Amino acid sequence: METKHKIELLGMDIQALEKYLLSLGEPKFRASQIYTWIYRKQVSSFYEMSDIPKELRARLDESAQISIPRVLKQRVSQDGTRKFLMEMNDKKKVETVVIPQSRDKHTRYSLCISTQVGCPVGCAFCATGQSGFQRNLAAYEMVGQVLGSRRELAKRLKTPDETLITNIVYMGMGEPMLNYEAMVESIRILNDHRGINIGQRHITVSTAGDVKGIERLAGEDLQVTLAISLHASNDELRSQLIPLNRKYPLHELMQAVKYYVDQTHRRVTFEYIMLDDVNIALEDAQALIKLVKPVLANVNLIPYNEVSGLEFRKPSSSAVSRFFGWLKEGGLEVTLREERGADIEAACGQLSARRDRKVR
Ligand code: SF4
Repeated sequence: METKHKIELLGMDIQALEKYLLSLGEPKFRASQIYTWIYRKQVSSFYEMSDIPKELRARLDESAQISIPRVLKQRVSQDGTRKFLMEMNDKKKVETVVIPQSRDKHTRYSLCISTQVGCPVGCAFCATGQSGFQRNLAAYEMVGQVLGSRRELAKRLKTPDETLITNIVYMGMGEPMLNYEAMVESIRILNDHRGINIGQRHITVSTAGDVKGIERLAGEDLQVTLAISLHASNDELRSQLIPLNRKYPLHELMQAVKYYVDQTHRRVTFEYIMLDDVNIALEDAQALIKLVKPVLANVNLIPYNEVSGLEFRKPSSSAVSRFFGWLKEGGLEVTLREERGADIEAACGQLSARRDRKVR
């Protein structure tokens, strides 16, 4: 039997939803009601929309859908971090990570969302990069990860609190700048105060160094935080770790970052994964200081989370402190990221959307 093509309402902004309701001969205010059900209450069944007339609910159900992704599986780390395996309409799967901001019972959460199924960048240390690229996610699928996570979290924690998730980082599977339009569209939906209402300053876009994307983002009139996955302070090593560096070498990347800071007046974060015996020698620290010091930025050090099958190793805690100290003495704003979710392979670079992975 041929299935009727349904219109996807998730991902529509209020204007698009109004237009759709008007096309059905319905008054505009119905759009606001449905908007609230979708983005405030993460409801995906029209039959649950109690203030919508029954006849309209049935009509909507025939012609439209709200595809909040299903959480197929979740793993909970000892530190409270949760990794959700989410399934899209076409059965493609991505991982989304929910990170508690503290150990307090009433803590808020940050959410690390994916922008692509797999990733075409192929960073040498990253599980996602090793699994290849399948497709871009649509804006509604990015927004859907937020709603699906909020729904699941509310269920698990037994709370209807809409403000459980306060921060979003585009740092899951995929390179956000290679799915630029959908990524920006999703930010605008997440930011809308009538809906999910995440402040722009609570949203971080992380890139492996896509210069074109950084320059475009600088012109969007958005106050989001830009994070750059740097991981090396010379081109030779960086090209080995992040193949995108061959297209956009360090001097071009740094120019784009300075341009972003000039345009937005926002402090940029440089992420630096610390790989034992690879990028944490004294000369790496010195080159890093030289590179980053002229920019309004801080450096976030992340001790590597080992991925089975890859040769990279996590540095000892004394090597981590030594490198941290060099950067501090060199005058950089530097933070050491507390390790979250490594026991469930939810930490940076460990996402791969494989259902069969076991806790090590
Ligand atoms: S680190 Fe990011 S950009 Fe690099 S392969 Fe992994 S997901 Fe892609």
